[in-house]
Amino acid sequence: MSRIVVAGSLNADLTIYCERLPSPGETVHGNDFAVNPGGKSANQAVAAARLGGQVTLLGAVGADPNGDMLVASTAGAGVDVSHVARVSRPTGVAVISVDTAGENSIIISAGANATLAPEHMDPALFAGASVVSLCLEVSLDTVQAAAQAGHDAGATVLLNLSPFAPVAQELARLTDVLLVNAHEGSQFLGGYDMPAADAPANAWHGALEEFVRHGLNKVLLTLGADGSVVLDATNSAAPVVRIAPTVVQAVDTTGAGDAFTGAVAARLAAGDSLVDAARYASVAAALAATKKGTQAAYPSSGEVAARL
Ligand code: AMP
Repeated sequence: MSRIVVAGSLNADLTIYCERLPSPGETVHGNDFAVNPGGKSANQAVAAARLGGQVTLLGAVGADPNGDMLVASTAGAGVDVSHVARVSRPTGVAVISVDTAGENSIIISAGANATLAPEHMDPALFAGASVVSLCLEVSLDTVQAAAQAGHDAGATVLLNLSPFAPVAQELARLTDVLLVNAHEGSQFLGGYDMPAADAPANAWHGALEEFVRHGLNKVLLTLGADGSVVLDATNSAAPVVRIAPTVVQAVDTTGAGDAFTGAVAARLAAGDSLVDAARYASVAAALAATKKGTQAAYPSSGEVAARL
């Protein structure tokens, strides 16, 4: 199995489970409160490692108990954390509400993640990597430096465009596979009207053409409980492939997208095609939604294999 580099965020997830999410100005009574390891990049790294990936995480946490928790959790999953810096800013946090349907709303405070800078994306750290996995919870300059280092190392660069931000053409050019949900995909395409989540494969050709116009040939579009779609302009035989959903009882979908991205990274590093990786990731992400929390909910390769 070849090496995966994940560069980006680590956050402590402060989660309250509640009947329904509050509207602006409203206070609602919640149920349980939990502090769990999270952050999109830490989640991606743990998901990939749990599925057999050999993962190095580049990031920053504070010299505080949340930082200790995050380093312990990622290292405990087998991730190489020797390049997770301890800095003088507090560890990043995400304040999360999850309702009884498993839907969530999230506010993040970057903290230590804001210190991760382009100069930390040392090309030597990317040598020999076959996959580099990124998200937008650290500065766009840092993401772009990591994408450049990954590209120069000959790795496949995955970019999860979340939380959404407009990205420079240069970052799009360095991205081999874009991972988005339908909302992020629509925003990336300037408000493009995406097909309904349950639309058949042939409804997605227009979206693929739009992504190609924006410089992306390969896109994995996640559709929550409706599964996902693989858009691949380089695959003339099957440019659009719908991945059927894995039907589960969702309890907490927080971090399901990160589980999807981490699983894609692990399977691409293991030599899978994009479609096979997406099929595998769909199962892994659905299983991740069946338990509370993010990293603690991520499945092993054996658990995924049992549902494939
Ligand atoms: P999302 O970011 O909501 O599109 O979710 C990412 C991935 O997680 C989806 O493509 C599914 O594989 C999985 N997922 C999320 N929610 C559910 C659900 N309710 N049931 C099954 N799979 C889900």
